[in-house]
Amino acid sequence: MMDAFFRLDMKAATQAGGCPVCALIAQRTDRYLRFFLTENVLDPYLRLRLIASQGFCNLHAHWLARLAPMLDEALGVATVYEHLVSEWRRQLQRASEETSPQRIAQILRPQRRCPVCEHADTWERDCLSALLRALTDPQSRDEAQRLYEATGGLCLPHLRRAIQLADDSEVVTYLLQDACRRWEALERDLAEFCRKHDYRFRNEPMSDGERQSWRRAIEAFVGKEGMHRQNNFDNSLRRGLRRWLKLG
Ligand SMILES: [Zn+2]
Ligand SMILES: [Zn+2]
Repeated sequence: MMDAFFRLDMKAATQAGGCPVCALIAQRTDRYLRFFLTENVLDPYLRLRLIASQGFCNLHAHWLARLAPMLDEALGVATVYEHLVSEWRRQLQRASEETSPQRIAQILRPQRRCPVCEHADTWERDCLSALLRALTDPQSRDEAQRLYEATGGLCLPHLRRAIQLADDSEVVTYLLQDACRRWEALERDLAEFCRKHDYRFRNEPMSDGERQSWRRAIEAFVGKEGMHRQNNFDNSLRRGLRRWLKLG
């Protein structure tokens, strides 16, 4: 039985265009920041959380800065950041009393990750798991493939992540074959876009897919604009373990 939310998510992602996981993360990020501005600026727990992370990361802070004037909520941002500035001014004061650069760097380092980035990790994992589950279950596989094929297809970072999470080799094969088909079509559209810029073929009509091909190519490699960075804790832990094993 297919999860109704999965079906709705895939349809929303198809409408948004591009990688479905990027589209769903972007949709949830926007919803989170809107909710923050309209309902959560006075939440004491979140305030402490934001003090620890030095507010939102670059990506999400600028996202917030774009949303706030649209929602007439600049005052909410000012209220939160007034508190953050006051707390971190005190930390700067503390740092100025230190002499060791390492100690100063430690005082000025954020203690937590940006809360939206943390949520985005979860949203990403949930979206990919739902997709993999639907593609694995024999009862939902056909419909899941149809729904997925109507989307713009996973970007390369999300395809890689999906393959890391998948435990069914048939799903991995399916995703890779689907990606090969999409990348072949993309390559053809790029070639046509370039060819039709030649003065000899300028009068030939260009399809929408061809016109957007260079943008699609960028998104295919890096995903949609506004995607957070994956928590690299896993990698640094792995690197640390490797170093430790070598020393041992
Ligand atoms: Zn993506
Ligand atoms: Zn962030």
